[in-house]
Amino acid sequence: MKVWIDGQMLDKAHAKVSVFDHGLLYGDGVFEGIRVYGGKIFRCRAHMDRLFASAKSIRLAIPISSQEIEEAMRQCIGANGIVDGYIRLVVSRGVGNLGLDPNKCARPTVIIIADQIALYPSKMYEEGMAVIIAKTRRTSAIMLPPAVKSLNYLNNILAKMEATDAGVCEALMLNDKEELAEASGDNVFLVKDGKVLTPPTDAGILIGVTRQIVIDLSAKLGLAVSERPLRVDDIRSADECFLTGSAAEIIAVTRVDDFAIGTGSPGTITQRLQKAFQEMIASGQFE
Ligand code: PMP
Repeated sequence: MKVWIDGQMLDKAHAKVSVFDHGLLYGDGVFEGIRVYGGKIFRCRAHMDRLFASAKSIRLAIPISSQEIEEAMRQCIGANGIVDGYIRLVVSRGVGNLGLDPNKCARPTVIIIADQIALYPSKMYEEGMAVIIAKTRRTSAIMLPPAVKSLNYLNNILAKMEATDAGVCEALMLNDKEELAEASGDNVFLVKDGKVLTPPTDAGILIGVTRQIVIDLSAKLGLAVSERPLRVDDIRSADECFLTGSAAEIIAVTRVDDFAIGTGSPGTITQRLQKAFQEMIASGQFE
């Protein structure tokens, strides 16, 4: 495997960054997780826009243009023979000293890794998955805007550990107002009485690329979509629940804590959206 770091394609064994990189020392940086389908970078523009917006929010000046990043990603997927896979794009603050001050970091580090990904076992895509509601809350926007896809994933990791402790793969996270925010690494949707519901962007979520695709596909399928605050009661009384993410794609949730969702099997609207999503990928008709 070859990894792209600051303009160089390096063998995996030599793909290393400094221990003084503030991405490592402080989680100071931003990233994207991007799918490659049929050799094409999926929703490249949306990911580039989010990357640059995340960087701007933390006053990180990405040292190369989005065109140069796109070109480097193509080079990296080509070098690794990736047709269907996943790109991890990281921009860290760069090498500094042992103080917090980002001004001491001369140049941000840009890293591109192209690999395969299988987030959840394939059986779960047919049968649905069980999740818990984590005690760990999603970071509130007054602390660190959740829309920034930063290298600080500790609160999501704590939620993920709660899920693992409970013997499931994922955890739903609430915000500090007891409202549903998202899963540890995915956005969340509910279906109630034929209506597709998802927490609004100000509920403390990452504004997912896949979330937007699902909103658009729902409209195309003639389904009503509402972005509104949702609470634990809404989850328990939902007919369907599913998660969305670049790595996860669309996956049904059939159990939340001790409650079966709907019939306890993936719901029909979830399946329609999964099908529409797969058709879009298969068609290659995406930017
Ligand atoms: N929320 C969080 C916390 C995430 O890390 C991700 C990405 N893994 C998502 C939502 C989904 O975003 P996207 O559809 O852009 O991958």
